[in-house]
Amino acid sequence: MKDIVSQFAMQLTLAEKRELVAELKGAIAEELASRASGPAGPSRCPRCGSPSFVRKGRDRDGGQRWLCRGCARTFSARTRGLLASSKLPASAWMSFAECMADALPLRETAARVGVSLYTAWFMRMRVCEVMALRTPDCRPGTFHVDGTLVMGSLKGNLGRSGLLGLPRPRHRNGRDGRRASRGRSKEWVVVVCGVNELGDCFCDICGRGSAGAGELSVALAARIPAASAVVTDGHKSYGFATRGYRHAEVDPRDPSAGDINMVNALHSRLKAFLRRFNGVSTRRLQRYLDWFRYAEAFKGGGMDGRERLFMHEAEGRYWKTRRFTHFEFGDAMVYWTRQLADVSTVV
Ligand SMILES: [Zn+2]
Repeated sequence: MKDIVSQFAMQLTLAEKRELVAELKGAIAEELASRASGPAGPSRCPRCGSPSFVRKGRDRDGGQRWLCRGCARTFSARTRGLLASSKLPASAWMSFAECMADALPLRETAARVGVSLYTAWFMRMRVCEVMALRTPDCRPGTFHVDGTLVMGSLKGNLGRSGLLGLPRPRHRNGRDGRRASRGRSKEWVVVVCGVNELGDCFCDICGRGSAGAGELSVALAARIPAASAVVTDGHKSYGFATRGYRHAEVDPRDPSAGDINMVNALHSRLKAFLRRFNGVSTRRLQRYLDWFRYAEAFKGGGMDGRERLFMHEAEGRYWKTRRFTHFEFGDAMVYWTRQLADVSTVV
């Protein structure tokens, strides 16, 4: 192999070598992607998850179609497959996985993959979705749980979209922006985080200003398996939210009684992760939290991160359509829509 490479290296010009590398990469990507999708048929309907379906003719290109007994719609092996339903070649998704694993800026990613800025953004949204579905659930253990605040961001063209409009007065730079809304203002989004001694973690949006016991309870129940212990800083809301678990409270001012340092460290890693995107829009924040969680979950693994992400892309399915992605508001935006609704009922 070495001989072949050195022989080629002598004769080829730089441009020819680049071309060769690009072609090899494309071939490898195709090979990996076809291996991921596999020759076996689907085990359940990709839309509704029903395991009962029957054969129903063929696609235009000869692929088998099935009819679902659950939702009465037909599907093929490509339905909702990230790579299979994309018009981009597998090699583009492979270079995208490389850029995303290194968390490169969107503009640089677009240039490397050879797509437009919009497409690079949309690919990122799709891959975040795949990451959320591919991250393994937390294993039981002792969880350090605490919330952190992320500044709400209404970036994008809300003002011009006509859908929602800008729901609050504009912040003027420096005066009534970040500085004025310090403290427990509703402009801050609460992100509740938890991590156990195995390194399994979660980060979820949980209200604005401060998290209520009810929403905290739902968030923790969704992530922390039964038979776990939970350690918190003793905030009132945790008493109700942790009633299903063994609960210990620590005093942040008295380190001798135990600490929640694991989650404090997680907060600082999360903040550093979000900082490189220069403000994540609140509508999309959960996607970025999912991305962070994925990166944390596979941090210590032996496999190369870029390779793993590409395999997950190849096997992964998406759920939210393009149209939905555009109109996505996310739970944290409900605060603003509710405010608008109140205003309109008064008028
Ligand atoms: Zn179905």
